[in-house]
Amino acid sequence: MNSEQIKTLFRAEVLALSAYKVTDARGFIKLDAMENPFSWPEETKQQWLKSLTDCALNRYPDPEARQLCLTLRQNNGIADEHGLILGNGSDEIIQMLLMALPSGASVLAPDPSFVMYKQVSLSLGLNYLGVPLNSETFDLDLKAMLDAIALHNPSLVFLAYPNNPTGNLFEKEAVIEIIKACKGLVIVDEAYAPFANASFMGELGKFDNLLVMRTLSKLGLAGLRLGYLAGHPLIIQELNKIRLPYNINILTQATAEFALQHSDLFNAQTAILCSERSRVLSALEAMSRFCVYPSAANFILFRTHPDQANTLFEHLKKQGVLIKNMSPQGGLMKDCLRVTIGKPEENDAFLQAL
Ligand code: PMP
Repeated sequence: MNSEQIKTLFRAEVLALSAYKVTDARGFIKLDAMENPFSWPEETKQQWLKSLTDCALNRYPDPEARQLCLTLRQNNGIADEHGLILGNGSDEIIQMLLMALPSGASVLAPDPSFVMYKQVSLSLGLNYLGVPLNSETFDLDLKAMLDAIALHNPSLVFLAYPNNPTGNLFEKEAVIEIIKACKGLVIVDEAYAPFANASFMGELGKFDNLLVMRTLSKLGLAGLRLGYLAGHPLIIQELNKIRLPYNINILTQATAEFALQHSDLFNAQTAILCSERSRVLSALEAMSRFCVYPSAANFILFRTHPDQANTLFEHLKKQGVLIKNMSPQGGLMKDCLRVTIGKPEENDAFLQAL
């Protein structure tokens, strides 16, 4: 098989893409991927392992994960009148949503935002439109968003709240204007909800086209792969036709159920991370050579002097600290680096290395 033959086998839009790359983090202090750095106390681990012994690995899992859905509803205040669908990470929900759109439909999101919105849209041949954020504050350019909605009539709009990679919460009023103006679906992606103290869950009943997406990844269960989407039951019903029947495996169902019964543990970890976020933010601000952006998430974006980001990133790597270099993305991310908040000693190592 050669590259000419490969070209005849796949759609042009797939051939044009690059695979999502994840840097090998072995041996590094890992502050690149917005994971929770804390593990569980030994006693909790033992209880968890015991809870798994009841899993019937020879059977298919509950295709609708009914017990887990109930628990997620209780934990997140999702009323019975709203629909709920689970995904193998919110990545899979993004894929399901986009797969269900009419062919050639337009998908709109602010730019920069979470890269999978664009990656999956392009892979499916959808018309992806990125509307630049305000270059100073990274807030929504509401006029530009509304103009793009009027011009392209997108079938779906993604709004990450807080936004990745910028870390800020968009103005709530601006988001509501967008929901009202858009005839298509508006997905408010609350991946960083545990750190944000702000949510659109309470708005669900008010707007039929609003869907709220969350994940357990940032809370502390990135390895499990569990995301969920709440919204109008008729919309969720359509998405269920796209969902593979057993997308949430039995170990994920059981582990998520167990973990959600230990929410005190995660709340305590989240509280430490929020207080560490303030500490790292102040320390970065005190190094006057950076422009540091406020964050409602578990990471901080900061801008270096022109053309310093790559050098600094490599310099940190040499000292064993892996963060995310956003600068190669270009545009508004030129000269920007993003650091995930880790354990206090990891954050100290990062600051020391800087
Ligand atoms: N949404 C946003 C805004 C994210 O930043 C991420 C992960 N970085 C995801 C969704 C995907 O999360 P997961 O697939 O782990 O649930």
